[in-house]
Amino acid sequence: MPATPPPALYPYLSAHHELLWNEADAFVAEHIAPRVVRMEAAPGRVERKVADLMAARGWFAVTVPSAFGGLGAGHVAKTVLIHRISCVSAAAAAILQATLIPVGALLHFATQEQKGRWLPGVADGSLLLTIAVTEPGAGGHIGGIETIAERTGNHWVLTGSKIHIGNSHLAGSHLVLARTAEVGVRTSRALTAFMVEHDRPGLSVADHRPGLGLHGFSAGRLDLEHVRVPVDNVVGEIGQGLSVAQSSSILYGRPNLAAVSLGIHEAVVATTTSYLKARPRYRSALSDLPVLRDRVGDMEARLRAARILAYQSVHLLDQGLSCDAELINAKYLGHQWAMTSTQDAMELHGAHALDRGYLLQRLWRDIQHTHPPAGTGEVQRIRLADAAFDEDDVQWSERLATETAWSQPGPTAA
Ligand SMILES: Cc1cc2nc3c(=O)[nH]c(=O)nc-3n(C[C@H](O)[C@H](O)[C@H](O)COP(=O)(O)OP(=O)(O)OC[C@H]3O[C@@H](n4cnc5c(N)ncnc54)[C@H](O)[C@@H]3O)c2cc1C
Repeated sequence: MPATPPPALYPYLSAHHELLWNEADAFVAEHIAPRVVRMEAAPGRVERKVADLMAARGWFAVTVPSAFGGLGAGHVAKTVLIHRISCVSAAAAAILQATLIPVGALLHFATQEQKGRWLPGVADGSLLLTIAVTEPGAGGHIGGIETIAERTGNHWVLTGSKIHIGNSHLAGSHLVLARTAEVGVRTSRALTAFMVEHDRPGLSVADHRPGLGLHGFSAGRLDLEHVRVPVDNVVGEIGQGLSVAQSSSILYGRPNLAAVSLGIHEAVVATTTSYLKARPRYRSALSDLPVLRDRVGDMEARLRAARILAYQSVHLLDQGLSCDAELINAKYLGHQWAMTSTQDAMELHGAHALDRGYLLQRLWRDIQHTHPPAGTGEVQRIRLADAAFDEDDVQWSERLATETAWSQPGPTAA
């Protein structure tokens, strides 16, 4: 794996980003790498310690504006952190990225008072967040959300269930999407976002059930039974929930998942080349067989292209340029290419890939987890087809990016 940023990324990286890259690698080597084996061996445990270490190091502050105690460092800086952490532990990277999606929603939709209430906690690492959209009957189809919120005096009362919620077991507050209009009202006006603190009566988090991969990360179920939240916990306008969810998913979720996939992809290629070089064959090694080199060449081509997509798209976002389709594409192809390379790697390892506890199995299991979040492949292709037909009318990058602190980076921003 590249110890320093590959030259192809330099158009998108400043000297501050390069510094951050090195800091992230050093942090990962010292704090995360030694814990990975234990995380894998105990899938039933949620890895709070790694979250605490990342919080103490200030990584959750990366996109929080400096006015609220954060680094205000922007999307490229965020990608550097998620990517470099994911090279060693996609689960740890998932913990980081899951909080940074609702941070994005707050940046664009919360009032100044709300930002002052929640963002300093994220910046100092004392408050992790979730964004809770998915339900048992509503994943890719956000219009199917059944959680309801009803107004009573100065409160809203929420009832419903959310599933697959990243950081469910670590978060102090959940940004919950609920229906605030009667059936029949268009989804674009029927949903509203609410910040729900984890200790509100009626909110419960189901026991952690480990998934196929990302061991240590929690993506669990929240049940809301008549949970009362004050009216000033509404984030954005009443009826603006779809915009909150869609913009966060496109501007933050897609690039975050692209960075997680990229880290896994780096590890897959590095593991495979090391293995092929070390495995004797005839008077040399497997790495000298042309037919295997051809396959590795394909893996390397995909990895190099995925790096460019991941970094170019967030660079455009930092510049305040229109880039929704680039963000979508980075997530879509980043996952797909990493999946293909991981399958190639499994086969290139022969039976060794199947030996219990071998690293490649973790990478294979983890990469399955970057397909559904922030939109499955089908959802991405629907959006990309809209772009091809020039029918992608809402450009969240155009509408919102220029509002953020880093769209005009100052001398102290990364
Ligand atoms: C690791 C992980 C973390 C997650 N984190 C969060 C989180 O923090 N917050 C949150 O709210 N959710 C989260 N999710 C849930 C994720 O957003 C959903 O899984 C995703 O939106 C897909 O929904 P679904 O699983 O219900 O699949 P479905 O929407 O039921 O889709 C099933 C299949 O049908 C296809 N499909 C669906 N609709 C269409 C269509 N219109 N046209 C063509 N094909 C279609 C899909 O591509 C898929 O192949 C997470 C999931 C994972 C795995």
